[in-house]
Amino acid sequence: MPTKPVNRIGEIYGNLTVIRISNRRSAGGNAYWWCKCKCGKEREVASDSLSNKPRKKKNITECKDCAKKLVRKALYKKHSQEENLRRKEAISNRQLLKEKVPEEWLRLPLTDAHARELNKKHFFRGRVCINGHLSPYRINGGCLECSKQFQSNDYLLNEAADTRNKHATSNMNQTQRKGNACKS
Ligand SMILES: [Zn+2]
Ligand SMILES: [Zn+2]
Repeated sequence: MPTKPVNRIGEIYGNLTVIRISNRRSAGGNAYWWCKCKCGKEREVASDSLSNKPRKKKNITECKDCAKKLVRKALYKKHSQEENLRRKEAISNRQLLKEKVPEEWLRLPLTDAHARELNKKHFFRGRVCINGHLSPYRINGGCLECSKQFQSNDYLLNEAADTRNKHATSNMNQTQRKGNACKS
């Protein structure tokens, strides 16, 4: 028989207050506790996740919904910090490119997100693409110079494929005809 767990009702961990014991036990016999979050929702938490000391395994300090919200908030913060860095970098890159690139490039939005904010299709970060082009980018589309080249390559490839298909079809017809000839 596992020993009776110490009563933890009333203890506070972050946004959680322990309100009652659960019937659930861990494989090792440790208790689970029902806790009430500040938002009003309840969460069942293993007793070893209820601690105010930093540990290797993360302590639980809010209900599942609040935990998800916190993750989203942290992610949003991280993304906006990254975006600010990108914009700063674009500004300094573009300063160095004055009179070296078309004026209108320097009037484009700074980044993909900036272009979306302004409802524009193109932006210019003042950086070269992986193929070495210094060119504006299209939102979702990448480097304009690359896509120009890709489109013309695509056209050539399509032409080649069309020719191949025509050959294939005429070969097939010949084979079919031969096959039919054998059958008859
Ligand atoms: Zn909550
Ligand atoms: Zn490119």
